[in-house]
Amino acid sequence: MTVFQSLAAARFAALAALAVLAFAAPAAPASEIPDERIDVDATRAAQKIFHVSVTMPASAGAFTFVYPKWIPGYHGPVGPIEDVVDMHVFAGATALAWRRDLVDAYAVHTTVPSGAASVRVDFDVVGADSQNGQIHPISTSQLAILEYSNFALYPQGATAEGVRVEAGLTLPAGWTFGTALPIAATHGDTVTFAPASLYTLIDSPIVAGAHEKAFALADRTELDVSADSAAALAVSPKYLAGMRRLVSEAPALYGGKHYRDYHFLLTLSDLVASDGLEHHESSDNRAGERYALDDKIYRTEADLLPHEYSHSWNGKYRRPADLAVADYQAPEKTDLLWVYEGLNQFNGEKLATRARISSFQDQLDRLAITAADMDLESGRDWRPIRDTADGAPFLYVAPGAFYEQRRSAGDFYDEGDLIWLDADVTIRRLTHDAKSLDDFCRLWGNGSDTTSVPSVNPYDEADVIRLLASVVPYDWAGFFKERIDTVQPHAPLGGITGGGYRLVYTDKPSELERLSDEQHHTIDARYSLGASFGSEDDPSGGEGKIGNVLSASPAFAAGLAPGDRVIAIDGRKFSSDVLHDALVAHMGASKPMQFIVASDDRYRIVDVPVFTGERFPHLMRDATQPDELAKVYAPRTFTPGPEPSAEPE
Ligand SMILES: [Zn+2]
Repeated sequence: MTVFQSLAAARFAALAALAVLAFAAPAAPASEIPDERIDVDATRAAQKIFHVSVTMPASAGAFTFVYPKWIPGYHGPVGPIEDVVDMHVFAGATALAWRRDLVDAYAVHTTVPSGAASVRVDFDVVGADSQNGQIHPISTSQLAILEYSNFALYPQGATAEGVRVEAGLTLPAGWTFGTALPIAATHGDTVTFAPASLYTLIDSPIVAGAHEKAFALADRTELDVSADSAAALAVSPKYLAGMRRLVSEAPALYGGKHYRDYHFLLTLSDLVASDGLEHHESSDNRAGERYALDDKIYRTEADLLPHEYSHSWNGKYRRPADLAVADYQAPEKTDLLWVYEGLNQFNGEKLATRARISSFQDQLDRLAITAADMDLESGRDWRPIRDTADGAPFLYVAPGAFYEQRRSAGDFYDEGDLIWLDADVTIRRLTHDAKSLDDFCRLWGNGSDTTSVPSVNPYDEADVIRLLASVVPYDWAGFFKERIDTVQPHAPLGGITGGGYRLVYTDKPSELERLSDEQHHTIDARYSLGASFGSEDDPSGGEGKIGNVLSASPAFAAGLAPGDRVIAIDGRKFSSDVLHDALVAHMGASKPMQFIVASDDRYRIVDVPVFTGERFPHLMRDATQPDELAKVYAPRTFTPGPEPSAEPE
């Protein structure tokens, strides 16, 4: 028996014990709608089609059932109703006529004959191209990510907590799976989960595949990896060691844990778009196939799992009251996403660095890129951060092009990161390092461990202000009004300058920036000529294609736009080396660079007057100030070894 098989056996034993506990739980109150059943047949996952059968309680007469519309974590009305096909409605053996609501496409009306006590709906859910966004069922020939929000129907008017569901799942032969859902029984390739509320079911995704393995991290915490190859399961000991430090660092930050078991679900595939989605007792993390093997790959997205884990406290347990809606049909109000996601961006990066999944130098380089990106956005002269949060339902699904003029949903994450760092450094300054934002997080995390089914502890903005004032009295309302509600010409860099650093530009990219460009097949020249490009090794053929153009830049002045393709520079075929050489050659000169540009089906010659040479952001230590950032990102549960210095040259 290998060590991995023994871990898997230990996991099964732990889940079986939980299943017993779940069955022994008190019966649901009589007011609950009992015994909905959802069966998913995923045996054709490789074909990207899933057969579903839902049986719901119903009584004679008009009956309306709904498909989830507002999906937690997506913060928008994005439930993929278009994926539901071949739908048939029955009462017993009798097929029932149905009609979609003319206003709410997620509601379906039917009439239940007398004597019937339930309605069964059989349908298929078709998957999407696995690169096409995570809201759809995602599968490859080797793995699948299954979310019950894709497969659930429920009676209109029922609440997520009020519907008790027994769910079954059949997988392709030989596939195994990981999930936070307690298991009631397994028969061959079919598993039946212990009855759970619809809320818990939809909050508990499943990763499954032909190559799937569990790694124990700590008591009640494991990493479930599903990959496109067996080779990708050889998670590096260095990464595992970082993850084991993470599951100590996060409780050290927040205090008590608010989950029964926690499962980091990690899908490793180059065919699936990288992303992460938070849940209370698990997280759905998606990265490239070799992510967990190679620190050159995971260090550029080192905060992926720490960010989603942090959400178990901040976002799932503590949640804006406006986001804690009772079902999946009522709209969310998203104005506090600058706390939900902004604080979480800061804490996720902080935990990744404290666990040393990210080095401190990489975190400084990450902050430099964030600060420069936010500082250079032209959209900040019309749209305050509050409006990026208010507009999240449409900004999350906005195209990437023109993000800089539009400001994106990413801004309440990234500018939120800078603002919460500023709050942390402010507390440290006001208390002479006696206190920090850690004290706020510990009050926020609220208390001791719980092993019960997760609950939500909602808050509003006044609660945030009050809690900060309890750490240290200060005009916190004014602090956030200035940074969240007011248009500001520059990014909030107080956390960086107060932390003992300055944002500077040099002609060398940081190692993190270089690795990021390498992995994403991009050339980031936004800080010099004002545009980013696809590199010559882009497998999707994006060579020379412009991703974005900054408004206040030579590229914009020259008339370049997202989607244009640069064919040649100064008469030579476009490549990253040719661009680099041209930026250096024109430095301090007066003659502009000459681009041959393709726009749609037209070609033209464009002069681009850029004389700065290459420019890349860095944080430079300011020796006149104490190094507060070293304290912010210092581990709390262990003493880290020395790391190589990479000060900008
Ligand atoms: Zn998040």
